[in-house]
Amino acid sequence: MSQFWSPIVQTLTPYVPGEQPKLPGLIKLNTNENPYPPSPAVTAAMHAVTADSLRLYPDPDASELKKTLSAYHDVQPNEIFVGNGSDEVLAFAFMSLLKHSEPLLFPDITYSFYPVYCKLFGIDYIEVPLNSAMEIDTADYDNRACGGIIFPNPNAPTGIPLALSKIEALLIKQPNAVVVVDEAYVDFGGETAIPLIHKYPNLLVIRTFSKSRSLAGLRVGFAMGHAKLIEALERVKNSFNSYPMDRLALAGAVASYGDETYFQKTNAAIIASREQMTASLQKLGFSVLPSAANFIFARHESYAAEQLAAGLRERAIIVRHFKHPRINQYLRISIGNPDECKMLIQTLTLLTSNH
Ligand code: PMP
Repeated sequence: MSQFWSPIVQTLTPYVPGEQPKLPGLIKLNTNENPYPPSPAVTAAMHAVTADSLRLYPDPDASELKKTLSAYHDVQPNEIFVGNGSDEVLAFAFMSLLKHSEPLLFPDITYSFYPVYCKLFGIDYIEVPLNSAMEIDTADYDNRACGGIIFPNPNAPTGIPLALSKIEALLIKQPNAVVVVDEAYVDFGGETAIPLIHKYPNLLVIRTFSKSRSLAGLRVGFAMGHAKLIEALERVKNSFNSYPMDRLALAGAVASYGDETYFQKTNAAIIASREQMTASLQKLGFSVLPSAANFIFARHESYAAEQLAAGLRERAIIVRHFKHPRINQYLRISIGNPDECKMLIQTLTLLTSNH
């Protein structure tokens, strides 16, 4: 605390991201990064950005990237907003579309940045419990007075996907509330809600390049929705930072969409590893939630998650453990490359060998 802080700073509980230790040989399965490098086309495009061009500000409208996204996702450029990682896009959405007199609704178990934004922007919220199968039940959101609804699909950290038909039913039931679907992990097996944006002016879909496009370090995210929703995000962005996307990020992001074959190949490899890892964990006595993401959420019948996480860490493997009472028996394990998955299973076999 300091006398120089604005009053709100004292009230904040900032989001704590998964750690980024620099230890050599560490197997890092704690922040859902992609185990594969970005497409070689991304590297080439970023190398082609000359140092001299960095004298000049980047395109404040990110027009080329919006054109690329527009062609791929079949939406108009004025239905797309791009920002510095989807965390920033989410922040703008909270500020511009989700702050109303009625509370915002989101699941009790979900991306832990949502309540952080609510506190920062002074948004009242209600955490709606997942059902006993740890799924989002949209009926719990259907008839409630609210200022907006947000959830990831697939949800995080459970990895469980929600059917598009359920999302559509919710959009019909809540026509006066903005429904934000955070599709950070959708490329690993979820059903995208993008086709619904032309039908429902209250739907905003948010995506990231951090997971399925192996570009967490580049910081690129985007939103798609009715032009009026996008205009709200642009108004906030242009009141905050005219150039959230730098020249390297713009070049890399455009090139990533140019290499569909690589994108499909790396995603398929991650999905195959996820299915294998699920089966191996089940053999070791874990229950694994059905994941459509690049991570799995699993609990052991006989071993405490916190101890397993500590045992893995001693052997240079880090996974994520949350202290929330409803999920403190679970480990969230990002899908690594085949060698990393093998090491994880070998180490867990050792740690659960008294079973
Ligand atoms: N949404 C969800 C559900 C996430 O898990 C993450 C990653 N922590 C993000 C959004 C943010 O990703 P980024 O800012 O890297 O785009």
